Amino acid sequence: AASAAPPAIRKLDENVVNKIAAGEVIQRPASALKEMLENSLDAGSTQISVLVKEGGNKLLQITDNGCGIRKDDLPILCHRHTTSKLREFEDLQTLSTLGFRGEALCSISFVSHMSVTTMARGAQYGYRVNFKDSEMEPPGPRPVAAVPGTTISVEDLFFNVPTRRKALKSASEEYSHILDVVGRYAVYSTGVAISCRRAGESRPDISTTATGSRLDAVRAVYGADVARELLPLLLEAGGGTGPEVSVDGPLGLRVEGLLSGANYVTGKKTVLVLFINGRCVECSPLRRCLEGLYASLLPKAARPWLFLDVRLPPRQVEVNMHPTKREVGFMHQVEVIEEIRRAVEAKLLASNESRTFATTA
Ligand code: ADP
Ligand code: MG
Repeated sequence: AASAAPPAIRKLDENVVNKIAAGEVIQRPASALKEMLENSLDAGSTQISVLVKEGGNKLLQITDNGCGIRKDDLPILCHRHTTSKLREFEDLQTLSTLGFRGEALCSISFVSHMSVTTMARGAQYGYRVNFKDSEMEPPGPRPVAAVPGTTISVEDLFFNVPTRRKALKSASEEYSHILDVVGRYAVYSTGVAISCRRAGESRPDISTTATGSRLDAVRAVYGADVARELLPLLLEAGGGTGPEVSVDGPLGLRVEGLLSGANYVTGKKTVLVLFINGRCVECSPLRRCLEGLYASLLPKAARPWLFLDVRLPPRQVEVNMHPTKREVGFMHQVEVIEEIRRAVEAKLLASNESRTFATTA
């Protein structure tokens, strides 16, 4: 075998490439939903409702009242790398939208039965069209009665990818991932009413209003037990060595947050709802640091609940690290984490003291 002639190198068939790429972006119903939710937010929606059947394994449907999609754009809506959000590579540094690569709808169209109903702002009609493997299915867009906005239905996710289909967990487990994604955005996106409901149920599992505060949203999503015990956090740290501590320093860090204090006793696992420059992300070093801090300061307290809205200068954040955009990279990570740790520590110590005073007074 060692002396066998090398196999010929061939270009992969476009369809094979697209199915492989789809698997990188869309791993389970919750990842498809996250992409669609971000699209609805990018479209300027103030109302977004999600409908789920069998944990999203059967149906994911998301309806928004955003800007809609023009009829003329529908033919390329699901092509790979078609987007209304990015033109030049340099735009990535100043991007204010969640999407930018034009890959999500393409990927979803390759691994599900997808239909889009949309009415563009200012248009006379709405249109409905099905997509398959990134193309519109005949007969193309049909006029329908609609209201401005977009509804996208994704049925039978991974029906044509047997290995993925088999890897899907029970409906209830997939649904808990969906609720996790919707809940995080519902808390972050004040000014947007977000709901999530299972087909056949009359009451949604998540429902926030467009006029409520962030604390109202926390109460609606995570419950009154959490909302009652939260301390507000505000941190501005420029970093550097100047006499003035200002957000204009090299760190340019600003954090708004809500975090559980010593009285919060019901948390069984740490919840860190983290947004960096408007993106819902994971940051394991920050998470570990905060868990350690709580464990050392409040050994008897429950696992903490934290919401952090972190702002950094856009130039210091790399959004294009991972196909799912689940992780972002940012500069000065050690310093940023340390600033946040110090601020949370100060908050917890202060609240612990006032609690001691309150209970002993
Ligand atoms: P990206 O978000 O990276 O641009 P997507 O594949 O997620 O790529 O979406 C492709 C394009 O479809 C978007 O750029 C946007 O113009 C349009 N689009 C998708 N969903 C919606 C929506 N809910 N409302 C309005 N336009 C949408
Ligand atoms: Mg998108």
